[in-house]
Amino acid sequence: QIELKNVNKTYGKDNCVIDHLDLTISDGSFTVMVGPSGCGKSTTLRMIAGLEDLSGGDLYIDGARMNDVEPGERNIAMVFQNYALYPTMNVKENIEFGLINSKVPKEERERRINDICGTVGLLPFLKRKPGQLSGGQRQRVALARAMVKKPRVFLMDEPLSNLDAKLRNQMRTELIELHKQLGTTFVYVTHDQTEAMSMATDIVLMNKGVIQQHDSPLNIYSNPENLFTAQFIGNPT
Ligand code: ATP
Ligand code: MG
Repeated sequence: QIELKNVNKTYGKDNCVIDHLDLTISDGSFTVMVGPSGCGKSTTLRMIAGLEDLSGGDLYIDGARMNDVEPGERNIAMVFQNYALYPTMNVKENIEFGLINSKVPKEERERRINDICGTVGLLPFLKRKPGQLSGGQRQRVALARAMVKKPRVFLMDEPLSNLDAKLRNQMRTELIELHKQLGTTFVYVTHDQTEAMSMATDIVLMNKGVIQQHDSPLNIYSNPENLFTAQFIGNPT
């Protein structure tokens, strides 16, 4: 489980963007973070991934304090909106690269690549270069490349926002399926309330660096705890 305890993040001298944040993300959950632009969603993910230092407070993963642990040592994968694939490598090489780096033996690499590519439907495309793939297929390569390392946590920051509505829908269903199959903890940031409601086991609604409500989709809808939550749900942005 991921625990943020009394976490602050300040940019520059006094631009406080995360304000005494307490958040526990339970193992195996599909936690979706929502909230207005600039409320601190990406900053929170980046701190969990280790791409951003905490200005105050503590981060624990499975009970171990992570504040000073290098991103590469955290066993966390992150997929961004603009997932960069290596253009000169084919699909298989893109996915295999990180495994070679972390010295996974050849046989094990083959097995894992086959498994994950079967799951996300990439087996027919292993020899293609990213430039010969559709947006959705490239997105799948980015997901497969992250998942093949068997991270204990999978962070995604608006990973579907570059896709058209139809593909987005399809990928949502596939992500729900992937989450079920793998049982890995997913933390997912989106602007899209439909996306949040359809995928999440847990929703974290933020505003101005503060959590407004952390609850099941059903409870967020039917029992908003404050005016902000009620208005946010009532007025999709
Ligand atoms: P969006 O939905 O638009 O992606 P967000 O919730 O992900 O927004 P963050 O990117 O976490 O928001 O940003 C939170 C606040 O921190 C914003 O006010 C932003 O301007 C500020 N901020 C983010 N990164 C930096 C930085 N490197 N330097 C200074 N301020 C920053
Ligand atoms: Mg963001």
